Amino acid sequence: HTNEMEIEFDSRSQNEAFARVVVAAFASQLDPTLEEISDIKTAVSEAVTNAIIHGYENKEGKVHIIARLYEEEIYIEIEDKGKGIEDIELAREPLYTSKPELERSGMGFTVMETFMDKVVIESTPENGTKIMMTK
Ligand code: ATP
Ligand code: MG
Repeated sequence: HTNEMEIEFDSRSQNEAFARVVVAAFASQLDPTLEEISDIKTAVSEAVTNAIIHGYENKEGKVHIIARLYEEEIYIEIEDKGKGIEDIELAREPLYTSKPELERSGMGFTVMETFMDKVVIESTPENGTKIMMTK
């Protein structure tokens, strides 16, 4: 890679906007189009929101982000040490949500997959979740 950044912040909903802006600012070094920046922001936003709402279920914890720039590509990793995902295949399904009572639509992973070129989910129950995305 040509450049790398790493941040860690408290699992609080106010930090979702912070994370999205930081990653977008870093990504702007690649001279992306407005559409590409908007796609990256949306994907980061979904992954960070998931870490806060599902990973930590609004309990205390840290969200960790690494971003790496390559010639014409960005790699973004968003990690929590929260409850983890029991069934990753199910979680990826459009419209699947474990929290329908919170009016979640179950579209977060579908949105990430739509706006990024590649999305890999690594998760272990009780250990946390890592989302690895490239565009
Ligand atoms: P939406 O994103 O549309 O508000 P959602 O968050 O429920 O709804 P997805 O983002 O697609 O939908 O996530 C699907 C499911 O995967 C969640 O309902 C949750 O059960 C699980 N999940 C996602 N991210 C995490 C995470 N970081 N830790 C634990 N579980 C997660
Ligand atoms: Mg979600």
